[in-house]
Amino acid sequence: MERTLITGGAGFLGSHLCEFFIAQGHEVISMDNLIKKENIENIAHLMGHERFKYIKYDVTEYLHVEGKLDNILHFASLASPKDYLDYPIQTLKVGSLGTHKTLGLAKEKKARFLLASTSEVYGDPMVHPQPESYPGNVDPVVPRGVYDEAKRFAEAITMAYHRTHGLQTRIARIFNTYGPRMRLDDGRALPNFMVQALKGEDITVYGNGTQTRSFCYVDDLIEGIKKLLYSNEAEPVNLGNPEEITILDFAKEIVHLTGSKSRINFCPLPQNDPKVRQPDINKAKTILGWEPKINRQEGLRRTLQYFKKKLEV
Ligand code: UDP
Repeated sequence: MERTLITGGAGFLGSHLCEFFIAQGHEVISMDNLIKKENIENIAHLMGHERFKYIKYDVTEYLHVEGKLDNILHFASLASPKDYLDYPIQTLKVGSLGTHKTLGLAKEKKARFLLASTSEVYGDPMVHPQPESYPGNVDPVVPRGVYDEAKRFAEAITMAYHRTHGLQTRIARIFNTYGPRMRLDDGRALPNFMVQALKGEDITVYGNGTQTRSFCYVDDLIEGIKKLLYSNEAEPVNLGNPEEITILDFAKEIVHLTGSKSRINFCPLPQNDPKVRQPDINKAKTILGWEPKINRQEGLRRTLQYFKKKLEV
């Protein structure tokens, strides 16, 4: 039986990974410092499962786990712009110190290591769509730089452990992902728009809404993570859905889906908000035989069920 540690294991993606690997027959250890206390609800249904264990711990501290480990998936991090602007130092620490500690543990246990990296390593990209070979356009000293640079450091140290210690490492560059268990107040476009639409409030589109994103449904992403984990690819691999949409059209799509009467309210654009973002997933297609299967219409429909339940509407 494989034993798998998931850091950030109570978060949006972390909790889906816990569920997924339990279903695959693994013994799963979910580690999380619960910086967002309510995230414990994401794994409440797994508590008491014989192959699931939750450990409340901050991975930036010295890390010890009893027994063998076959896989370590390092998903601990604040990940929404609002969160990493609220917690800039914790964001830098978990990407740097936290990645160092989890790599050290992987070395000790001879475990496979997978880093949750991000499309943010491309910053405000000048190449579109973004292939893995594009080194990015990132400003380290703007507020958003805390996340971008933490993840860039995380990638660098992961490659260094691979090259120096021969560790089996993987780097997933995750593009915008959505689905059930996103925090309603995480400040991202989808939760904001859905909550606003369901409450009949104005929809806050930042800037003129012409900036683009490409949204991947969580189940597709998790499948990609699994395929990457069991591949032999140490270099970064983009995982995301290449279907690109402007933020204004995305807002309208959600208003339409919910049948809401909400109106669009244009608000100031945050500093250094990337103007475009779309993954080039040719590498994932070729190496992993992976591509997303769930289109936005279906993914949004499933996500809406979750948001309605949370808001009890
Ligand atoms: N955005 C918006 N209104 C909101 C929240 C976000 O218009 O209430 C915009 C944001 O400026 C960005 C895009 O939606 O251009 C996606 O933002 P999100 O926070 O979801 O993640 P990002 O892709 O920027 O990391």
